[in-house]
Amino acid sequence: MSEGQAAAMVGGRGAERPRRAHPVCLGFGGAFISLLALLAVRAATMESTQVEVEPLAPIRIDESGVIERFRAGLRIRTVSHQDDKGRDEPAFFAFHTHLAESYPRVHAALERERVSELTLLYRWRGREPALPAVVLLAHQDVVPVDAASVESWTHPPFESVVADGFVWGRGALDDKLSLFAVLEAVEGLLADGYQPRRDVYLAFGHDEELGGEHGAVQLARILAERRVDVGLVLDEGGAMLDGLLPGLADPVAIVGVAEKGYLSLTLSVAGKGGHSSSPPPESLIGILSSAIRRLERDPFPSRLDGAARAFFERGIGPESPFLYRLAYANLWLTSPLVQAVMLRTSGTGTMLRTTTAPTIFHAGLKDNVLPARAEAVVNFRLLPGDSSEGVIERVRDVVDDPRVEIRAHSKRREPSEISRMDSAAFRTLARSIREIFPGTLVAPFLVIAGTDSRYFHALCDCVYRFLPLRIQMSDMMRVHGTDERVPVDSVPDAVRFYRRLIENASAAEL
Ligand SMILES: [Zn+2]
Repeated sequence: MSEGQAAAMVGGRGAERPRRAHPVCLGFGGAFISLLALLAVRAATMESTQVEVEPLAPIRIDESGVIERFRAGLRIRTVSHQDDKGRDEPAFFAFHTHLAESYPRVHAALERERVSELTLLYRWRGREPALPAVVLLAHQDVVPVDAASVESWTHPPFESVVADGFVWGRGALDDKLSLFAVLEAVEGLLADGYQPRRDVYLAFGHDEELGGEHGAVQLARILAERRVDVGLVLDEGGAMLDGLLPGLADPVAIVGVAEKGYLSLTLSVAGKGGHSSSPPPESLIGILSSAIRRLERDPFPSRLDGAARAFFERGIGPESPFLYRLAYANLWLTSPLVQAVMLRTSGTGTMLRTTTAPTIFHAGLKDNVLPARAEAVVNFRLLPGDSSEGVIERVRDVVDDPRVEIRAHSKRREPSEISRMDSAAFRTLARSIREIFPGTLVAPFLVIAGTDSRYFHALCDCVYRFLPLRIQMSDMMRVHGTDERVPVDSVPDAVRFYRRLIENASAAEL
């Protein structure tokens, strides 16, 4: 077929004289077809990273005992107060007594030490202690229930009521399920006469909700000082979610491989103040409001890289229907489109940028007095790859007003590193998830909040965040909120998961 004939066929009927297509058009057409072919080939050849698992024989555990011991733990008010009320130390000691009484084998076979008095570190010696160890993190403390919200709980927050298929209580999700399930798993394995091949550390901080300074920071320091070779760290931070994205029928286990950083800036303006009967053309409140407004109008640019990009490319991409795969396999081209969809909801949009959140605004005391000072606090959650110095610099540029003083709070943290996703440790975790929760897809992702595990990146490049719990997005929102709860039947499965994780980590070459 000649070029002219082809053009006539494409051009349709009525063409008296075959017009020759302009070579540039032909060039574009050819390039477009090649591009489509390339996109399709990339989508078709996207390889699954899901670990293949064999069906597992049922793991029998004392389900009602597991649930009762967990419920008793929820009744103990191990609260971390944000203000200077301090903490209720007797509650933590009562919690330790409950653990010792509930898990006698753990407390006989493992070495236990107290760190900063209330944090607990257990070491379960393996048969080959020189191998890289497994560190299982969980935290004992919970956030307070403020007096105003107690009434709005369906069941009292510290009574761990079982109703409608859930265990209700503060700390059920964050993070006592994990702590108890880990201990149950070890207790059960000990009862079976099991000893791991490598060392397993259980590290339970007591101040995660306050930043982990006396808990997780010290735990990481101690392990580093003792030169413990760490091969896998697991903490809270991810879970199994249904209906995460359109086109995905299976639940997705999101495993946090990195977490965002944290920075608060105080923006302040100072002046003379004065009587409100003779206001200046620009008040301090006006100047500060404009600065905040500029920051909101000019958010940090979004980008799809690191852990968020791996979520598509390594996680759900290969498992998605072809049309979605076309997008996920070709993020070099489709990234703006995928980002636009993600930015539509704050839940996913926050994975794409350093976020800007004005949280405090102070100015004025009396309705007829111009304040001499106005102050606002803006909180930023930093995307891995950004830095607090970079954020401060950009804020100065955007505010662009020398009258606004910008000061960083001391409590800041840089974004974490990104853990390996191609490691034996990641595959061990994925295997354990898929053995206990068949059909679940495992996908790396970025944790937008903070966890104790961030302090362990210096010890190990395999730090993961995942809670073995199948949960609805709406229940996830109950963390730190009202009506925190976990499905009753998720508790025994969480125990089974940690059992398999310890066994699989023993068998693997981490
Ligand atoms: Zn937590």
